[in-house]
Amino acid sequence: MSRRLVATLVALLVVSAACGGTSGSPSASNAPYRVVATTSLFADLARLALGDAVQIDAIVPAGIDVHTFEPAPSDVSKIAGADLVLMNGLGLDEWVVSLVDAAKQSNANVLRLGEDLDSYGFQYLFDSEGLPDPHVWLDPSAAELFLQKIASRVVEDRPTLTSEIRAALDEGRASLQAQGQAARIAFSAIPESRRKIVTFHDAFGYFARTYDITIVGVAIASPGQDPSAREIAALIDAIRAAGVTTVFSEVQFPSKVLNSIAAETGATVLADLYSDALGAAPGDTYIGAMRANATVIVASMQR
Ligand SMILES: [Zn+2]
Repeated sequence: MSRRLVATLVALLVVSAACGGTSGSPSASNAPYRVVATTSLFADLARLALGDAVQIDAIVPAGIDVHTFEPAPSDVSKIAGADLVLMNGLGLDEWVVSLVDAAKQSNANVLRLGEDLDSYGFQYLFDSEGLPDPHVWLDPSAAELFLQKIASRVVEDRPTLTSEIRAALDEGRASLQAQGQAARIAFSAIPESRRKIVTFHDAFGYFARTYDITIVGVAIASPGQDPSAREIAALIDAIRAAGVTTVFSEVQFPSKVLNSIAAETGATVLADLYSDALGAAPGDTYIGAMRANATVIVASMQR
């Protein structure tokens, strides 16, 4: 985010604090605990961890790309007064740090869900530059770690909510495990030679590792860039060589690139996988979105 935008955000916050009285101060212990997540997907994981014990909001609207998101000045007011800000980290949603600063919030209120998972035994995937792939939540075991981290943090901050949160967490983890297990069973019934996918952006590495799927290729290396002619040609070759008949678009990336790749290879474009963003029901929850992903991918492999 530009320095000028940050300055605007700070100025707006000063005005809103002056008009709004106590709106910028942290909530008292009898006020509802407020969680603000960068994306709708992390907000829903917070719901699975915390149930109805707290108030939860998201900054990036459903269906919008988180990688290239530029916060609006009005987003500062969403952060102001939050007890906890949830972000993924790993380079996905760093823009929220500027909002936290503009809202004069402490960075101690920020929980980086996707970071330090190796201390729980999770193994990161790395890109060619040695940077960890941020899309860890597409592995259900990492999503479960998100739930644990969120629940522990809120219980620490607000011990009076302990029993309520413990009950929500047990239920949330059971739902995640059931969904992951159902997907594992469905994918394991597909012959290995057919467990191959092509997606729009490079988000499905952990998903592919979890369900033993080969990623044949992706249309764009990183969001915000268009693929070069050479990259498109390489992907077309890879699709032909692998015999892939379906390519998947993603809900937050309307793109014509996949259509032309599909036309060239005779593959079908299937809309829309959920990677970084939730969408309309049944993809409006993490579990609904993951179930929809598994269903549509398994069906494409059976064709
Ligand atoms: Zn992504």
